[in-house]
Amino acid sequence: MSDDEKYLRRAIELAGEARASGNPPFGSLLVGPDGRILAEDRNTTITDRDISAHPEQKLARWAARELDPETAAGTTMYTSCQPCGMCTGALARSGLGRVVFALSGEQLESLKEPTAPVVAKPVPQEGPFLFEEARVPVEGYYR
Ligand SMILES: [Zn+2]
Repeated sequence: MSDDEKYLRRAIELAGEARASGNPPFGSLLVGPDGRILAEDRNTTITDRDISAHPEQKLARWAARELDPETAAGTTMYTSCQPCGMCTGALARSGLGRVVFALSGEQLESLKEPTAPVVAKPVPQEGPFLFEEARVPVEGYYR
């Protein structure tokens, strides 16, 4: 059994724990450059009443806060399902080096009943507006 499969099986176990605790069935962990498990988490969107409490999101934030850039770059996230758009955005800012997932987003959709409610739908965005005013706090910040 490869190390990737070993860690993916742990992510799947965490997904089962999330479901058993009344939350959506998703789990993730971070494995550092030396192969040590640095952190684990489960989806807690229901029990925390927090739409962002996906394990990938929580671990991406943890990594950005707790790991030095070199360690983060050598760290892999193993996750029971392919990260959603929200988590993909957080991962892009986390400095983590790699993500390995079990279920793909497409496989996840195939496991849902056709009548299951849509969990995430795009919100219409309007803009840009007020460029001359909005540029003031931004100009000179990014150098
Ligand atoms: Zn997510």
